[in-house]
Amino acid sequence: MNRVTILLAPVAFLFAICLPGATAQQVQISSKPNPQVEKILSEISPANIEAVMRKLVGFGTRHTLSTQDDPKRGVGAAWRWIKEEMDRYSRESGGRLVVVEDAFVQPPTNRFPREAKLVNIVATLPGSQAESKDRIYVVSGHYDSICSPFSDTTCDAPGASDDASGTAVVMEMARVMSKYQFDATLVFMAVTGEEQGLLGATHWAEEAKKKNLNIAAMFTNDIVGNTLGGSGVRDNARIRVFSEGVPTTETEADARIRQSNGGENDGPSRQLARYIKEATERYMNNFEVTLVFRKDRYGRGGDHNAFLQRGFPAVRFTEPNEDFTRQHQKVREEDGVKYGDVIEMVDFPFIAQVARSNAAAMASMALAPTAPSGVSFKSSRQEYNTTVTWKPNTEPDIAGYRIVWRETYQPFWQRSVDVGNVTEFMMKGLSKDDYFFAVQAIDKDGNASVPSFPKPPPRQPR
Ligand SMILES: [Zn+2]
Repeated sequence: MNRVTILLAPVAFLFAICLPGATAQQVQISSKPNPQVEKILSEISPANIEAVMRKLVGFGTRHTLSTQDDPKRGVGAAWRWIKEEMDRYSRESGGRLVVVEDAFVQPPTNRFPREAKLVNIVATLPGSQAESKDRIYVVSGHYDSICSPFSDTTCDAPGASDDASGTAVVMEMARVMSKYQFDATLVFMAVTGEEQGLLGATHWAEEAKKKNLNIAAMFTNDIVGNTLGGSGVRDNARIRVFSEGVPTTETEADARIRQSNGGENDGPSRQLARYIKEATERYMNNFEVTLVFRKDRYGRGGDHNAFLQRGFPAVRFTEPNEDFTRQHQKVREEDGVKYGDVIEMVDFPFIAQVARSNAAAMASMALAPTAPSGVSFKSSRQEYNTTVTWKPNTEPDIAGYRIVWRETYQPFWQRSVDVGNVTEFMMKGLSKDDYFFAVQAIDKDGNASVPSFPKPPPRQPR
């Protein structure tokens, strides 16, 4: 029993009486653990993460405009090594992981003084189910680093936590997960140019939008290495996940619906964040996801913005307590204070936990059916019961659907009911005035999709 269940046990009893539909089975919101996901998490290795990070830091600087030709130092040496390493994972996966250099010429911008070749390393694990393989989940870290002043392209910029840590999370996930099969497609990206305005992520996300790719979710891991904050607080038992509530790309028509019916806490990225917390805490007893209900830290941004701006759900993973004397600093000691994002500060077992949290959520989504479409209420009228409707999924292994709900002021889904393989269900005694609802699709192995939040039905004449 999780904490929510214990708190709600008396409430659950009441609902059991209120829901006479004997066919409906009351369940916890949490699905059963999937043995494949448990195995993946057990194979994620702090030692591998440490080896990757020591190698990345060893390139001296990975500034986007540092040398590209030196075999040992600079951004070119870094991307060539990441490619080689990912190629090795590909061979170990029997060639199923497809690794490419996503190279492009970046024109100058106000933060990027001259034209340069930029390279993302992108490793794709194609989905194994025909109906699901066009559905894509992306996980990224940025391998570029920076010191100050930002224009200095030669100073040592170890970028251990920002963001060799996120790059190592992505690479370790690619290494482990490419040995398994998923219904949907996974993309593992080490991107560049984050520090000069999300250049690498923007390039890839823009191409994805042009190709009309179905990016169902994107995670960026950025600054996930330190467990000792500059405040002196040490915490290795949780990770922050930032998510926006109202979509960046909300249209005026969407805004009118939201202003009328609510939903400012239920955008696709917020649903994704709740799902990550639930999946992580289902598989990890000693690690928590702290959801932060904002797009990013105050006044700051990251590579997920490039995806949000193009209408793709996306969230950011960041360590719980940052140390600002580390980030973007020249490595030095001043008045007894050590500056610089050095590898001595990071915590490899913690970074492995962050990778497990990412992998638990991403594997769960990629094994599950797509989130239901066309979720709505049968009627926009005032009613004492609420009938939720949706379109049937097309996957051959679909087993049914789960309705989740919560009181409007609650942050997380409180209750759920498995309703079987139907496309309509009446929630007796629950008014849509007082609760938020959403629908998940479930496959025969119990894998559950991210919940879909309803859009209102067309207005009916009174
Ligand atoms: Zn960063």
